[in-house]
Amino acid sequence: MTQEEERAEQLAAILEEIRGLTESPLYDFRTTNHYNPVLGEGRPTAEIMFIGEAPGEVEAKTGRPFVGPAGRVLEGLLAGAGLTREDIYITNVVKDRPPDNRDPRVKEVRLYSAFLWRQIEIIQPRVIAPLGRHALEFVRKHFTGFPAEGSVSTLHGTAYPVDAPYGRAFIMPLYHPAVLFYREDLQEAMEADFRLLAELVNGYNQLMNQSGASAPQTVS
Ligand code: URA
Repeated sequence: MTQEEERAEQLAAILEEIRGLTESPLYDFRTTNHYNPVLGEGRPTAEIMFIGEAPGEVEAKTGRPFVGPAGRVLEGLLAGAGLTREDIYITNVVKDRPPDNRDPRVKEVRLYSAFLWRQIEIIQPRVIAPLGRHALEFVRKHFTGFPAEGSVSTLHGTAYPVDAPYGRAFIMPLYHPAVLFYREDLQEAMEADFRLLAELVNGYNQLMNQSGASAPQTVS
């Protein structure tokens, strides 16, 4: 079995666990509406992992992340940086759709974060891009070396070296693509962030050699 197949099998097992997760506060909402859990999508050996917030309605209906309006924005930003969905792995902090797309609750974030952490351990991404504040809080809680303070607006577009269970990785916080629905003025900044992200992935080895012990690094 190839590494890719082995990881795909491990991820499929996680999806089945989530499918049977009756203790989730979102379980009844999912099953009543005939929705699907959304684990993630992409290459299990991808060097870059995007982390969103939670599935919306289209995602819950299809079982695929970022395939609704926010997904179209994301794909546009990826294309502008020369990346496609095939180059990345994409997932969310919360794996089931919250009713009315409300913010995930603390209990939901705690429950589903354990699955996200296992996905990270399996995929071992070299670059992690949290999209928006919920994913930012996840990386802040889980990675040593990530700044304890700061919001997406102050941290976006910079690559922070962190210690992952499988070695050194970089985290580059990004605005959530849905921000563009009400903050069109952020378009250029977001495009620039995605270009930097692509450069980071392409120049990863060079950065690894240069990275200092703990100082955050700007890759511009
Ligand atoms: N927004 C998210 O955060 N994730 C999705 O999968 C879709 C929209």
